[in-house]
Amino acid sequence: MVHGRDSSQALVEREQLYDIHGHCLLAIDRVTLTELLLNELESLPNVKLFFRHKITTIDLKQQQIQAKDENLAERHCQNHHLEQQDISQHVFDLLLGCDGTHSAVRTSMMRSSRLDYSQTWVDILWCQFTIPAATAGSFTTPSASNGFSVSPDHLHIWPNNEMMLMAIPAADKSTAGTLFASLSTFAELERNPSQVEHFFMRNFPGAAELIGLESIRKQFEMNAHEPLISIKCSPHVYGSCAVILGDAAHAMVRFYGQGVNAGLEDVQVLFRCLNESEALDLGLGHALECYNAERVADAHAINDLAISNYWEIRAGVRSRYHLLHKAFEEVISRYAPFTGFVTQYSRVSFSNQRYSKISYHGHIGPTGDTPGLARLEDTFV
Ligand SMILES: Cc1cc2nc3c(=O)[nH]c(=O)nc-3n(C[C@H](O)[C@H](O)[C@H](O)COP(=O)(O)OP(=O)(O)OC[C@H]3O[C@@H](n4cnc5c(N)ncnc54)[C@H](O)[C@@H]3O)c2cc1C
Repeated sequence: MVHGRDSSQALVEREQLYDIHGHCLLAIDRVTLTELLLNELESLPNVKLFFRHKITTIDLKQQQIQAKDENLAERHCQNHHLEQQDISQHVFDLLLGCDGTHSAVRTSMMRSSRLDYSQTWVDILWCQFTIPAATAGSFTTPSASNGFSVSPDHLHIWPNNEMMLMAIPAADKSTAGTLFASLSTFAELERNPSQVEHFFMRNFPGAAELIGLESIRKQFEMNAHEPLISIKCSPHVYGSCAVILGDAAHAMVRFYGQGVNAGLEDVQVLFRCLNESEALDLGLGHALECYNAERVADAHAINDLAISNYWEIRAGVRSRYHLLHKAFEEVISRYAPFTGFVTQYSRVSFSNQRYSKISYHGHIGPTGDTPGLARLEDTFV
């Protein structure tokens, strides 16, 4: 749902489909997903879970890790000393490093092997704002229903060429909004927080009223102003004993909404490689090589696609040229299916095609102005 003003300056919201076939994105609450996964793990007889254990040392050659029990350590810290039992030692056959952006497993792989690594801090910060559930007399948009202040069935965007506000409805009927803007815009607002309300009114029509005029400045001041990072590295494996998956291998900016999907795909590919190697009795080393050969290229591709999609959601969704381009692509996709043509967005979001096989020619990155037409040979499946 794209929010803005019409030519008479009235507030409008306009629904924009992801694709001509009516596909939609499915959202899941993070806590619910974590609980489901933990329940599944707990039901396995050969799994032992350790909560609040931080891996502090990894010795890849000896295949050992040390973990600090944070509960014990906290208790001892109050008595001003750490104790031997706070640290436990574990040996491993295969270490799966799913430990996020600042991965300890990746860091130890970098120390022990020729791992290429690059990280880019993008010139954009983000800050969370909560749009509360609707109450009697509160400001709502025309599509609001079921106790929400905005439509619960859409992802909401307030595009603005150089910045953007987006919002996703949550299970408790509030809506989680995120402001994305340049470092200099944030710096200006931090210098003049009294301007926050006016800034929203000028740039994101109707959003200040939805968030609440009395709380918008407080939310800007209280909530963190977070950076966005994009990480690429290669390889994603260490010999036959360690592998990194998820953000540890490919933390990306948030503009394609693929962070979790890319991590789940890592798992799918790793299991396929493990099963194939086991069936042919080729060993762990072969399985990890197979995973690495497939996954590095895809991880790099989705990192680039995520950056290039920022233009599309902050500006493309209201560019006539871009909308015409999109309509043209979708008409071909619907009425000439024999061409095998599918839009880039559909291929990324609604298929299991490898990211590295999906072209992003023609979609300009964060500094670009206009999208060009995708090269025809690149857009056929
Ligand atoms: C505000 C925000 C909104 C997002 N929205 C979306 C979205 O809408 N859709 C989407 O697909 N993606 C989204 N993402 C990205 C998504 O959250 C990540 O891609 C995803 O969580 C990565 O999962 P992961 O398991 O690889 O890493 P993480 O979720 O970061 O998990 C890493 C885990 O490792 C643990 N850990 C770290 N170091 C150690 C250590 N030394 N010892 C022991 N444990 C350790 C951490 O405690 C954590 O539990 C969003 C990200 C942010 C920040």
